[in-house]
Amino acid sequence: MTNALYMDDSYLKSWDAKVVAVKDEKFIVLDYTAFYPKGGGQPWDEGIMVKDNEKFKVVYVGKFSGEISHEVDKAGLKVGDKIRCEIDWDRRYTYMRFHTACHLISNILYNRANAKITGNQIEMEKARMDFSMIDYSPEKLNAYVDEANKIIEQDLSITVEYMKRQEVFGKPELARLAVGLPKNIKEFRIVNIGDIDKQVDGGTHVNHLKEIGIIDVIKTVNKGKNNRRMYFILK
Ligand SMILES: [Zn+2]
Repeated sequence: MTNALYMDDSYLKSWDAKVVAVKDEKFIVLDYTAFYPKGGGQPWDEGIMVKDNEKFKVVYVGKFSGEISHEVDKAGLKVGDKIRCEIDWDRRYTYMRFHTACHLISNILYNRANAKITGNQIEMEKARMDFSMIDYSPEKLNAYVDEANKIIEQDLSITVEYMKRQEVFGKPELARLAVGLPKNIKEFRIVNIGDIDKQVDGGTHVNHLKEIGIIDVIKTVNKGKNNRRMYFILK
């Protein structure tokens, strides 16, 4: 199993690794990686792998049967190769800011309106969140987002901890996603925002709330009580 370095350090930008598997010449598994694989509404990381000054571009990263697989732009990497990896940091950092913003917004929607997240997608320019909410209006939603922006000003720290399965099951507020928790996992990674929010999560986050900037709702769509939709940007 690949050691996923981004789980405990979202700010790791470069590291040394060894190639442990190569499939179809372009799909690489490493002993250690900080490249985030697509998942949880957060896109994959891009970047480069360098072997003896030769650069291989990382064009896609996904998780397949528990392994993190990196697709590179050309053949040439072999099992046992020692490489240097580097993340496209502008891209990753943007996703981190959006991801933490999504947690903060969903915390307020859950606590104020008992809303659950039914879908989300982060992009470079904007993020989309879908949620269930009985008593909905765009004005209410904007008030919740204003509240999120006020909390950002407190600049709370974001931290990671791990929790046993039975402990997580006693606390339904830890998993606000409507889809529920994955089966067969014994220990869950928990992302904390100060002491106001705890969430089971595998994504990458900023260390401090002020790094998010200001959340600005650019569009709302109402498709029924289980499918309210908002798009926001960060300023
Ligand atoms: Zn998340």
